[in-house]
Amino acid sequence: MTATIIDGLSYANKIINNIKYEVNKLKVKPKLVVILVGNDNASQIYVKNKQKRCLEVGIESEVLHFDEKIKQDKLLDIIKQLNEDIRVNAILVQMPLPSHINSNLIIETISPLKDVDGFHPYNVGKLALNMTPYSVACTPCGILKLLNAYNIEIKGKHVVIIGRSNIVGRPLALLLLNNDATVTVCHSKTENLKQITQTADILISAIGKAHLINSTFIKENAVIIDVGINRDKNNKLTGDVDFNDVFEKCNFITPVPKGVGPMTIAMLLQNTLDLYKTQNNI
Ligand code: NAP
Repeated sequence: MTATIIDGLSYANKIINNIKYEVNKLKVKPKLVVILVGNDNASQIYVKNKQKRCLEVGIESEVLHFDEKIKQDKLLDIIKQLNEDIRVNAILVQMPLPSHINSNLIIETISPLKDVDGFHPYNVGKLALNMTPYSVACTPCGILKLLNAYNIEIKGKHVVIIGRSNIVGRPLALLLLNNDATVTVCHSKTENLKQITQTADILISAIGKAHLINSTFIKENAVIIDVGINRDKNNKLTGDVDFNDVFEKCNFITPVPKGVGPMTIAMLLQNTLDLYKTQNNI
């Protein structure tokens, strides 16, 4: 038996085309503002990519790029101004920020109504209470959409998530719990990791370590979602999962690249449009 490869790229393109169609009908276009601090190479590439995708669907985007020595108070003032600006529908602060800036304070200062990443405590709190937030973190949202697109049953299933970060593991656990999964969250201090992952109907890895997960970690016919983005020894993009090793044992698997990654970008565009609609009572 071989697994079905979950084609995140195709599904993301489908969503992006729908967004483009909807945005095209709007007289005033949604606007995303991205705040970038410093000259981190990876961050600059991510931001450029986000801008490019916005342009493709007709979402207006603006990047505010600041020197890495910018004072925290100045950044807070800028966010407060953006919160008040009716032409701005969505605000994203590219992480990581320099160490003299308190990232939590920055996130808390963004209006929950413009919090495109879904990281604000108000939105995370609503998610935790199974109420409707203004936005949900993009990667978890994208994973849920992929599971639904492939008719993968979540209700009653044991989902094991490896990773408890605020951007992936934690919001994903809440989202799946709200969808009636039985969720176990593992992390670097988890004892007997393998024994736990072997009981997963759906195993989601968000660790950031190339090929840590091989076939000995998984149950026969499991669904494998690989969130990890790593470089292997040949500098090739690769996930947390040893794809070739698990392929014959699992039922579904997301590849890296072209799996979860494209869905994250698609959800960023979707969240921007959804915030615009909420703000305009559409
Ligand atoms: P992170 O903040 O570094 O979190 C990694 C998590 O993995 C932590 O909870 C950590 O445990 C856990 N961990 C580390 N080593 C482990 C081990 N040996 N066994 C079990 N758990 C272990 O990373 P992140 O931001 O969540 O991202 C995780 C990965 O996903 C990265 O490769 C990142 O590039 C990728 N990513 C991809 C997308 C996408 O769109 N595809 C989006 C976001 C992130 P502790 O909490 O105990 O430290």
